[in-house]
Amino acid sequence: MNKESYDFDMIIAGAGVGGISAALAAARLQMKVLLLEQADEVGGTGVFSSVSLICNFRDSWGRPITSGIHRELFPASYTHYNEKLVPTYDERDLKAAYERLLASEPTLTLWTHCQVSQVDTKDGRIVRLHLQGSRTTTVTAKIYLDATADGNLSALAGLQYKLGREGDGRLQSATATFKVSGVDCSRLKEPDIRQWSAIHSLRRELLPYYLDRKAAGLTSNPRQSITCFPYPDGESLLFNSTSVLDVDPTRPKTLIRGKEEGIRQAQELFEAIRQHPAFHHAKLEYIAPKLGIREGRRIVGEYELTAEDCLESRRFEDMVAACAYSLDIHSPDGGASRLESIPEPGYYHIPYRSLIPKGCTNLLLSSRCISGTHEAHSSYRIMASVSAIGEAAGTAAALYVLQGLQDVRQVESPHIRFILQLRGQFVEGEVKRIAMPASPAWAEEAR
Ligand SMILES: Cc1cc2nc3c(=O)[nH]c(=O)nc-3n(C[C@H](O)[C@H](O)[C@H](O)COP(=O)(O)OP(=O)(O)OC[C@H]3O[C@@H](n4cnc5c(N)ncnc54)[C@H](O)[C@@H]3O)c2cc1C
Repeated sequence: MNKESYDFDMIIAGAGVGGISAALAAARLQMKVLLLEQADEVGGTGVFSSVSLICNFRDSWGRPITSGIHRELFPASYTHYNEKLVPTYDERDLKAAYERLLASEPTLTLWTHCQVSQVDTKDGRIVRLHLQGSRTTTVTAKIYLDATADGNLSALAGLQYKLGREGDGRLQSATATFKVSGVDCSRLKEPDIRQWSAIHSLRRELLPYYLDRKAAGLTSNPRQSITCFPYPDGESLLFNSTSVLDVDPTRPKTLIRGKEEGIRQAQELFEAIRQHPAFHHAKLEYIAPKLGIREGRRIVGEYELTAEDCLESRRFEDMVAACAYSLDIHSPDGGASRLESIPEPGYYHIPYRSLIPKGCTNLLLSSRCISGTHEAHSSYRIMASVSAIGEAAGTAAALYVLQGLQDVRQVESPHIRFILQLRGQFVEGEVKRIAMPASPAWAEEAR
């Protein structure tokens, strides 16, 4: 057991798209970053729950409103796809991109199989993290980022959070996604499944087989429709169509039950679609290793983003990210999803204050656990916005360190935007030039 303690400029817990984007943004400002991941490998939901679709990141006129690290992760979605083609990715390519980008940052340290298990605080500051797993030790830093999706670090620090929808606290349904290969597309009404029209047609073709199974009581899936997307190869499909209710990531028993139920529903749905002639020889390639959890803790922050903010395309003076994706609530009751698009110009701002948790001066939120309502969270939880949130959080944290600040509230959003803009990220509002030190403090000390 390693009893040493390690010190960094910044520690980021969670290596999904939010944590990785934050780590890259900060390391590129020469910060000494420790990125922690409890799983054996980096990637989080976008890799291990296989979601496949690159959700909308363009405004009403097609202009990208995220263009920073997200563009490095999904380059084809910025150059290749038009409105006819379904923009999707292969999770193996995403994982390879994460690993390549992380490995190319010399000031970034990655520890996988390493869980933050305890957080020591004093006077509204985090002073130390206790880790379990490949390294059982303690680590310290000037600033910490919660990129655990479910706000695990913030909860361990004793901060306030909200869970589920107003009224009954129920969360969006969870989904076990699965990949199907060996489809004989020539037997489909529209064979080129890379096209939206073909995917809609395919879903209509498959639906009667599923509904027959449902009518016969052979599945517990409450959904009345089928959702699937093509892989970029145009030959295999990802089904995002199971619906497991009452899974709460803060209650481990519900995760175990949910995973079993998700696998059962996936197998039931596969049996149903196999009745279609194009699927007679299809193969259930795999069920995603991790049950897809859409919602967890939302940490109470300095500003709570609301459904009205999203649906009124609201602008904020302290914007640091933007989101163009609809409100998309997979019903906690198992009914139809609520899908409402963002009106013209088609996107809203995410303010820096939503990344700042109340009650702590050296912590930022860097994943889908930012401060917002159940409804708003259903929109900004997609990977494009979470990447932009992470990039903003990593940049703000670096400024906190470089400027020798004591409270994350002292970081000025025009400074954050200045750096984001230099990096190619989409920002709006005033930008303020910042004089950067010639070399970071750790490099000075090493001399
Ligand atoms: C079924 C489903 C379908 C979806 N479909 C789409 C889609 O089509 N397109 C889209 O853009 N988005 C989609 N989403 C949403 C999107 O994938 C996620 O919201 C997003 O990837 C979350 O990123 P994150 O970085 O916040 O969290 P995650 O990717 O979940 O990463 C959090 C990481 O933190 C780690 N962690 C947690 N606690 C600790 C701890 N104590 N110590 C160390 N590490 C810890 C976890 O292991 C995990 O790796 C979907 C989500 C689901 C569930």
